[in-house]
Amino acid sequence: MSTSATLSDRATSDGKVRCDACPVMCYIKPGMVGACDRYANRDGEIVRVDPHVLLQRTVEQGGGVVPFNRGWDGQLVSAGQTFVTAIGAGTTYPDYKPAPFIVSSEIDGVDMVTVVTEGIFSYCGVKVKVDTDRHLGPEESPVRAEGEAVGHVTTGEYGSQMLSLGGVHHLTGGSKKEGRITCDTLLDLSNGKAVTLTIDNGAEVVVQAGRPPIVNGVTEARMRVGCGSATIGMFARQWFGKVDEVVVVDDHITGVLSEHQAGKYLGVKDTGIRMKGRRSTPGRYFQVAEPGTGWGGTNISDPLTILEPFNPKVAKPGLSMLMVSTTGEQYGYYRLDEALRPVEEELPETLRVSVERIKENCEPALCTVLFMGGAGGSLRAGVTENPVRLTRSVKEALTRVTCGGAPVYVWPGGGITFMVDVSRVPENAFGYVPTPALVAPIEFTMRLSDYAALGGHLDDVRPLQSLGAAPGYVTDRSQVSPHAENPWPLLPRTPGQPA
Ligand code: SF4
Repeated sequence: MSTSATLSDRATSDGKVRCDACPVMCYIKPGMVGACDRYANRDGEIVRVDPHVLLQRTVEQGGGVVPFNRGWDGQLVSAGQTFVTAIGAGTTYPDYKPAPFIVSSEIDGVDMVTVVTEGIFSYCGVKVKVDTDRHLGPEESPVRAEGEAVGHVTTGEYGSQMLSLGGVHHLTGGSKKEGRITCDTLLDLSNGKAVTLTIDNGAEVVVQAGRPPIVNGVTEARMRVGCGSATIGMFARQWFGKVDEVVVVDDHITGVLSEHQAGKYLGVKDTGIRMKGRRSTPGRYFQVAEPGTGWGGTNISDPLTILEPFNPKVAKPGLSMLMVSTTGEQYGYYRLDEALRPVEEELPETLRVSVERIKENCEPALCTVLFMGGAGGSLRAGVTENPVRLTRSVKEALTRVTCGGAPVYVWPGGGITFMVDVSRVPENAFGYVPTPALVAPIEFTMRLSDYAALGGHLDDVRPLQSLGAAPGYVTDRSQVSPHAENPWPLLPRTPGQPA
């Protein structure tokens, strides 16, 4: 590994040694760790504290994964079965140095190279998808951790509320405390830990990758089957002939069977129902109530509050009506009395099946956390002397980008801005430095010939088999099974494939 300074340049007379792996430049006492807990002074040498992680694909993984995580015994199954991740590999800093590991191996007769580094990301954040109907807060509302603004509510998706957390403005543009807590929040979420967030004019939500959200203390169980209109379309046939009217209550699009095209198609008769809110198209109503944590993401607990009086010219006493939420968790069955007022009755058994089916069709509610970062000039310089060529190589599908061996999505357009599902990355792969910024593993894998063509640091390429004797910060290695759903990162990319 190339270094720009000798140890004597970095050591002081009292035994402290300067770590130069990030701009903080800690002077670390003997036996102590630096400000990020990632580097230590061990006998006068700066070493990386965590083991360097190798992914090991085992024979058993062809037919079923046998997870393992153990110390490295120095044995490599074969070049094609071992992937050198950037987790624990160390950082390219200052930027002009080659990446900590540039490893070559032969895969099916093709010479490949993987360039790995723990990137320092000042420009990064997480996008959090929270599967819930419950209103978490108005769009653009600040999201807080420990009272500090760490992000905001962004546009909702189908059945999910979305949070955009972190980003350079929260990391660097506010107070020191805001930057530190933003960094802590991103780190915990990226490493799969639970974080409690509060939303201005909204809810408190506990978020953890791969776990159900907890909204105002209630663990969410189901993700909606669809919007109110879609639910009418999906279940109209199962209601036809068993009930006169069905209303699927939804904060976004409330559906009304007798007016909806699905009801018209089946021949459902007009019922004289009149809804509050704004009619969009027949049988589809917006804004029937305010958003909230009640029925279908509205603020109501009594569904009758979204109805206007029935039209006496059409409605008849005895008319039956089912009202249900988009998850089937709330429902009510009513019959009109002589004054055309809905009176609640017990749900008939014939309709209970359809309500159960709505629930059955709801998928489990989960939180999904995608880390998003921009692999900027500094990081790219560790790969090649001409950084833009790396960007072009990624865009031309010659170079595969992975994060701890997990597949990433690289945004089209300029730069190498990628997203990764943190649940596909090995445990505790993310770190931080107190600048503040997140540290995330990133690997670039390509044919050796392509690496040469983009101006790679060929003098620093070392064969995989030499890893055991490799000098550098790394003192320990561990081997980990890859996530069962991840493609094996050493397979060469073909143009047109995602990164
Ligand atoms: S914060 Fe960590 S990486 Fe940065 S100089 Fe200190 S020990 Fe090194």
